[in-house]
Amino acid sequence: MVDSMQAALGGAELDDYVQRGLDHLWVHTQQWNDLAKPDGMMVFTDGEGIRLRDMQGRSFIDAMSGLWVVNVGHGRAELAEVAAEQMRRLAYVNTFVYTTPPAIDLATKLAELAPGSLSRVYFANSGSEAVDTAVRMAKQYHYNRGDLKRYKVISRRGSYHGVTAGALSVNASTAMNRAPFEPLIPGSIAVPGINCYRCPYEKTYPECNLFCARTIEDTILFEKPETIAALIAEPISAANATFVPPAEYWQILRALCDKYGILLIADEVINGFGRTGKWFAIEHMGVVPDLMTVAKGLSSGYLPISGVIAKREVAEAFVGERKHAFSGGITFGTHPVSCAVALANIGIIEREGLVENARVQGDYLLEELRRLKEYHPAIGDVRGIGLLTAVELVKNRETKEQFTEQDELGTKMTEALKKRGLLCRAGATIALAPPLCIQRAEVDEVVGIVDEAIGDVEQQLGLA
Ligand code: PLP
Repeated sequence: MVDSMQAALGGAELDDYVQRGLDHLWVHTQQWNDLAKPDGMMVFTDGEGIRLRDMQGRSFIDAMSGLWVVNVGHGRAELAEVAAEQMRRLAYVNTFVYTTPPAIDLATKLAELAPGSLSRVYFANSGSEAVDTAVRMAKQYHYNRGDLKRYKVISRRGSYHGVTAGALSVNASTAMNRAPFEPLIPGSIAVPGINCYRCPYEKTYPECNLFCARTIEDTILFEKPETIAALIAEPISAANATFVPPAEYWQILRALCDKYGILLIADEVINGFGRTGKWFAIEHMGVVPDLMTVAKGLSSGYLPISGVIAKREVAEAFVGERKHAFSGGITFGTHPVSCAVALANIGIIEREGLVENARVQGDYLLEELRRLKEYHPAIGDVRGIGLLTAVELVKNRETKEQFTEQDELGTKMTEALKKRGLLCRAGATIALAPPLCIQRAEVDEVVGIVDEAIGDVEQQLGLA
């Protein structure tokens, strides 16, 4: 853990930092006007366990592990030491052509952890790059096998898969404004996703017989199966309000892909590395995808790294003539320092039993959040699995009426949580996904804050 903290700043020194941030730093997705508001730009200096500390010395619970990233928690000095040791030894080689021991060790470890024959790993730097790569890999897989017409990719509305051109094209999340970047890559087809709380087909499970999955066959037939390269989906989509599908849903997707020769890509960028109480969320579904994308929890954010894990049978399509090798190198992909840190991060998850802890604390968190529903009229639904949970807020529980933009629910809820010392993404749903090292008393603290904050916002909106 960290042994020195940065001294807290205030007054003119703090104002100077914030002003320089406003002038020169592009904070990725924030509206500059919001950053410029009082306390709009939060500058963090230290972290330990589930907590972050900002430049003013204020402490916050990081209830979303950054962005579903910091699985082992903050302040793991052990990972800094691993990085320093590898940097001293060897920071970089031409990874297009050569490799290093940490890369081989990490790939071996992932092959051991991943289900089925998922066993050949291509490393990149971000989730978007992993998705982009998986999509290109699927296309070249078919091409190498002489199937030259398969270029289309099916994804699901509501899903988020990243921002590079390939990832953005399969991205059908409403959180992403795709309009400025259109037209996207031709052949990107979005079908409705699954959400039994708000079924896109207004049906009810189980009577629906999982129509939302079965009906994807109509799209496949309409688009012509021989033109479709892949279907990509998150086992549990955080972007789509963390709805947990029944295992049968994924079994239908698997069967459709098998029937029509389509590669199934499971995007485990958020779901992976213990978040859902198993190493990979796809294990809850009882199927093995052809390609699996991983990032975030792979290194718990201590360094950037992502990967695509391919089934042996898929990787074999790239073996043969020179031209069959995968067409795609990324300079910093397979970075030895990131690989060494990711391997050590997995070591911590194993040593401390964090996959099991995510299951146990996740069950407790869900149970406690469900208890809040008894007396908070604004809670429409509480769902999730492991430490991937969501509380959906509604204006009217009976009709499931949603809040409107005028209600400014996101701003009000974010502020109510922040002023009580908790950071997470809050809007129509409050996303709670704390580090996997969270303990029971800390879960109580999180739930206590959420309880108070919802009460506060219910009062502001006249619901209490
Ligand atoms: N896939 C999923 C499921 C994600 O949630 C994200 C990011 O949140 C990505 C891909 C893209 O990852 P990155 O932001 O590291 O590029």
